[in-house]
Amino acid sequence: MALSASAESSPTVAYRFSFPDAVHHVMQVEATFEHLPPRPLEVQMSRSSPGRYAAFEFASNVFEEKFTDGDKKPLQVSRPDPRSWTVAGHHGTVHVTYRLFGDKVDGTFFAIDTTHAHINFPATVMWAHGLDDSPVRITFALPPGSDWKIATQLYPTTDASTFTAPNLQYLMDSPAELSHFAMSTFQVPAIAAGGKAQTIRVVAHSQATDAEFNDYVAGAHKLVLEEQAVFGELPDYEPGYYTFLADALPWDGGDGMEHRNSTVMTGHKLSLSTVAHEFFHNWNVERIRPEGLEPFNFRDVNMSGEMFIAEGFTQYYGNLAMLRSGITTQPDGMNGFAHDLSYVLDTPGSSYRSAMDMSRLAPFVDGSSDLFPTYWNNDFVSYYIYGEVIALGLDLELRARSNSRITLDDFMRAMWRSYGKPGGPAPGLVGHPYNIADVQKQLAAVSGDPQFAADFVHRYIEGTEKLNYAGLFLKAGFVLRRLSSPASLGDIRLEKSEHGVRVTRSTMIGSPAYEAGLDLDDELISVAGTPIPTPDVLLKALASHQVGDKVELVFLRRGQQVKALATLTTTPGFELIPIESTGGTLTANQKQFRDAWLGSKVKIKAHS
Ligand SMILES: [Zn+2]
Repeated sequence: MALSASAESSPTVAYRFSFPDAVHHVMQVEATFEHLPPRPLEVQMSRSSPGRYAAFEFASNVFEEKFTDGDKKPLQVSRPDPRSWTVAGHHGTVHVTYRLFGDKVDGTFFAIDTTHAHINFPATVMWAHGLDDSPVRITFALPPGSDWKIATQLYPTTDASTFTAPNLQYLMDSPAELSHFAMSTFQVPAIAAGGKAQTIRVVAHSQATDAEFNDYVAGAHKLVLEEQAVFGELPDYEPGYYTFLADALPWDGGDGMEHRNSTVMTGHKLSLSTVAHEFFHNWNVERIRPEGLEPFNFRDVNMSGEMFIAEGFTQYYGNLAMLRSGITTQPDGMNGFAHDLSYVLDTPGSSYRSAMDMSRLAPFVDGSSDLFPTYWNNDFVSYYIYGEVIALGLDLELRARSNSRITLDDFMRAMWRSYGKPGGPAPGLVGHPYNIADVQKQLAAVSGDPQFAADFVHRYIEGTEKLNYAGLFLKAGFVLRRLSSPASLGDIRLEKSEHGVRVTRSTMIGSPAYEAGLDLDDELISVAGTPIPTPDVLLKALASHQVGDKVELVFLRRGQQVKALATLTTTPGFELIPIESTGGTLTANQKQFRDAWLGSKVKIKAHS
């Protein structure tokens, strides 16, 4: 093919991956940067990965790197920082080879063994500064004689081993699974007149039987239709299809990671709740995208105050799609909501920090904090669950205000039409990312009540007030109430220790144990006169006591014996019960509200 003059002068990027050392979890990478301007080339390994918000130094696993020019002559390299290489003296071409170790199967890292290569590009490729808009060519040199195939959202070419990405952002967002996987494809017809049918591929590298895989595909199909119904349409997928990439093996870590036209799902077995959550992301976060995440910065962490929408509203809709499609039963679904409400309402952090504050902590909590102790169990609430509970409350509130005519589905559709659907300047880029003022604007438009929208954002999103969930659930005929449970010192974590049991996590602020002065590292010796040699004895020691009783705690704090009185409370937590199971009557209005909320929205039939 003849190159045009402008293509000849624009830089190009190519990667080639080969697998001679798969047995040792090592991959060979070759990168070629051509048509470079006459100045030193700066290449680096990323510190972050789309959908993951903590910093990871992916350069840690790179070794034996060699830089040469177009004539294979070694080039002079300096190291400005631990993850970067500055390459001087080239004549327009830089060729680099390196080896990469990886053995973590999830949505962020790189993993290779003799059964597969599981490639997340930010963990895998050295990329060059200033070439963000350059097209990228990717070749996978499959092991000779292997039965591996390639599944990815990268653009296919006429050569089955070669793919392209239009730019750096798209490449980094495109995981690839190379293995002997199972694949099934289905078509989703458009709901609206003039819409386009879309193709969905389900790929699984797993030990599932054919029957299990077919059930999984059928479940995924139902969930896709249920979520399509929320938005009224599927996005237009750039390569021509959307791909679920499941890696479900006993040694895999559990994870799900959204991308623009695909998702990586890993874990011990195939999971439909992960499908439900991740597929919703192909609107919410991949295209309806917060300003703080666009474009994604691979040199540092990415912070957004809207993570409670990106992840939390997705969490709500994942659970709702499981309910609406009938994959989750109503009692299980309500137990899930009650569990998540308990966590948010009973964790002290939700009274210190708003959902937006919690969102901004993602770079601190979306990675390992094993290196030093934190106070997260008291001062942090996951923005997934905080946001889910806000979405749940907002949905019920909108329904209650409008006799079920206006719902959170309308809000999501408004966000989609304003910020997602218009698209971006290039594949992989979002042209109209939103901020919280946009959220308020769309909520005002959908509800028809700007005062309601301002008040909701101010009190429940930017502030720490909580909605009247019991009142809202009653509209749908569900009773939200405190668990009736035995007398307790609060949610306390213990392990056996030298003199009794050691407290392994900070006690919960406001709990009886906390008020009595017990905390992290203290060794509890006895409670109400009963020695506590192992954690399970604590429950027995409290069994004969009532809520409100004062009991004596004897414990060791930094070598000193302490005696203190604790006033017992109920174990934290709520339950959510259908009113008809509590001796009450479900009214016609409540039934109508419940059915409109939890009933399927799908009007076309899924093939089975
Ligand atoms: Zn998510």
